[in-house]
Amino acid sequence: MSTLQDVLSFNEEFVSEKKYERYITTKFPNKKMVILTCMDTRLLELLPQALNLANGDVKIIKNAGAIVVHPLGSIMRSILVAVYELKADEVMVIGHHDCGMSALNAGDMMAKMKDRGITEATLSTIENTGVDLKSWLTGFSSVSESVEHSVGMIKKHPLLPAGVPVHGLVIDPKTGKLDLVVDGYETEK
Ligand SMILES: [Zn+2]
Repeated sequence: MSTLQDVLSFNEEFVSEKKYERYITTKFPNKKMVILTCMDTRLLELLPQALNLANGDVKIIKNAGAIVVHPLGSIMRSILVAVYELKADEVMVIGHHDCGMSALNAGDMMAKMKDRGITEATLSTIENTGVDLKSWLTGFSSVSESVEHSVGMIKKHPLLPAGVPVHGLVIDPKTGKLDLVVDGYETEK
């Protein structure tokens, strides 16, 4: 059975047996918070458990590295939607140790693209439009610095209203232990 078939047949049973009932909630986060974190598989269940979050408690935005790359990109837009439309009053950026983005090497990844059939011409066409692919595909060297940077991007964003604390934390992907990098209440004072 394919992965897709697997998912679909499980889903049929999930719905018909009403296993969704214990997850019923609203789109508004009970804990009035939006979290930006990494797509890392180890955090899938660990992060909500380690932070005592149940279905309905928070909005969670995920990408590779928990990084705000562009001030008008989809991450920032999602945060603003959470704040203005979904009653989130606080923002948390949670990076993690041993993140794939800390080791990401643009040259290696572009070599893999070529191995998979992406031509040099395609890469240079993109670069000719003014996109610096190498820097776009480069991660970070320090997770706490990266978290601090993303917190700064959000906090200083011209469209974020005053009075929304933006916290920065780093989680251990094995134990779930959190280390505080930025206490958003401090910068609110
Ligand atoms: Zn990661």
